[in-house]
Amino acid sequence: MLTLQGKSVYRDICIGRLVFYSGQREIGRVTVEDREAELLRFEKALLAAKCQLRDLYRDSVKVVGETNAEIFRVQEMLLDEEEYRSSVRRMIGEEGVNAEYAVRTVGDKMARELHSVEDIYIRERSQDLLDVTRRVLNVLSGGIGLDLPQEPFILAAEDLMPSEAVQLSGDRVLGFVLSKGSTHSHTAILARSMGVPALMKLGDALDPECDGKQAVIDGFAGVLYIDPDEASMRAMEEKKRESDRRRLQLRELLGKENITRDGKTVKLFANAGNLADVEAACANDAGGIGLLRSEILYLESDSAPDEERQFAFYKQVLEKMNGREVVIRTFDIGADKRVRWLHQERAENPALGMRAIRLGLEKPELLKTQLRALYRAGVYGNLRIMYPMITSVGEVVQLRKLERQAKSELESRGAAYAEKIPTGIMVETPAAALLSDLLAKEVDFFSVGTNDLTQYTLALDRQDEGLERFGDPEHRAVLRLIETVARNAHAAGIWIGVCGELAADTAFTEEFLQMGIDELSVSPGMILEMRQKIREL
Ligand code: PEP
Ligand code: MG
Repeated sequence: MLTLQGKSVYRDICIGRLVFYSGQREIGRVTVEDREAELLRFEKALLAAKCQLRDLYRDSVKVVGETNAEIFRVQEMLLDEEEYRSSVRRMIGEEGVNAEYAVRTVGDKMARELHSVEDIYIRERSQDLLDVTRRVLNVLSGGIGLDLPQEPFILAAEDLMPSEAVQLSGDRVLGFVLSKGSTHSHTAILARSMGVPALMKLGDALDPECDGKQAVIDGFAGVLYIDPDEASMRAMEEKKRESDRRRLQLRELLGKENITRDGKTVKLFANAGNLADVEAACANDAGGIGLLRSEILYLESDSAPDEERQFAFYKQVLEKMNGREVVIRTFDIGADKRVRWLHQERAENPALGMRAIRLGLEKPELLKTQLRALYRAGVYGNLRIMYPMITSVGEVVQLRKLERQAKSELESRGAAYAEKIPTGIMVETPAAALLSDLLAKEVDFFSVGTNDLTQYTLALDRQDEGLERFGDPEHRAVLRLIETVARNAHAAGIWIGVCGELAADTAFTEEFLQMGIDELSVSPGMILEMRQKIREL
């Protein structure tokens, strides 16, 4: 038995045979006689690859939602990049090499260059470049018939491109295991929204020699067992039965109230980052969306997302939620969530830097565009707007001014919009918590972002895995702040929610209810588990 430890991106268990997928093929350098004909072969392959990507976008929108599918549009754009096309053309035209060799050489070189860039979002584009290169090569070689078995299997690979993950998914793929792969990659995001266990970074021991072997993915522990011995197999089968049983049991809570045994109720909402999450929220019976992180629109674009694109996305979310509350947070970009097109300087302490509403106040057009899209979408559902990273009353006053400007811009355009949208703030800095009595008079609700509130209160960088042991989640300092915020919210007659990761920690549910927290917003998959906990209290 071989036991490999990796990073899990989806908590579930699956048992099946490993099938190694190797998209990489050896490509030799061949001198061609007819350079013109070879150039034409390349152009035709490029066109076919672009058509495939367009089809893939259309099909995957239905599976993983528009925002996740957007990656295939980005890939189509990569194929249009002048530098890419002209470099390949030059190699074929000047050196007389075969199109395959030129495509592979240029693709690899440009991907390496992108990979050496410090910015994580640019770096991840190198994956996309390799992905489109492989696609063009597949077309040139007449297409890959993915010779995959008919019975369900666990897909193993060194790494998997987003398009391969989508194409190889479906009923037969029980899970993904990758020797490389990043938990931030699009492939990880796609696997999560497909709802299959997936392990990344398993290392070189995940070798093609293991092809065909029996394996178990334990997505709870992040462990892959290859050729499990009888005892481990039995333990895993039992764990899977238990997990299936629990999942099924929890489904009995669909449609039930979030009520404690002594009659206290709390709203259970879902956190979402894309349309697939919104669908998962509905499937898990969330009362609403307590936090829609809007920054995905900004992170996946090559330029600032325009009003129309944002409007279409927010409208879709509101319509899917069909009258239930949806809290959309204005962009929390900047600092660690750097977007290429903003050309921000790398800050010494990014978490304390130019992010969220600071960026919005610095670049008012960016925030006003989002506000206009939100006000227009507000006509189609039950919308609330929430501002991240507030530290003072003065910031709220400045934001109010931008709100008025955005509305009057819509007014002068004669656009339809929702005039009265409740507006709240995230309480995620100690400053906001300490000023919560004053802030409560200015806004319609609070939502406590415990992820950042913990980082700023305990002076503990949330990106630094090495500091995890100092991050005691039970730290009384954070809980005392939340208690103060709850008291101040209720004294001013506004509601308070918690939307950070602590909201889903059942060890704190009782304490949150005692504080009078009105809403808990957790990942969609945690809704029913939380409902069960509340009903037991
Ligand atoms: C938080 O800080 O707790 C929060 C919910 O926001 P994010 O994790 O997106 O910073
Ligand atoms: Mg936050």
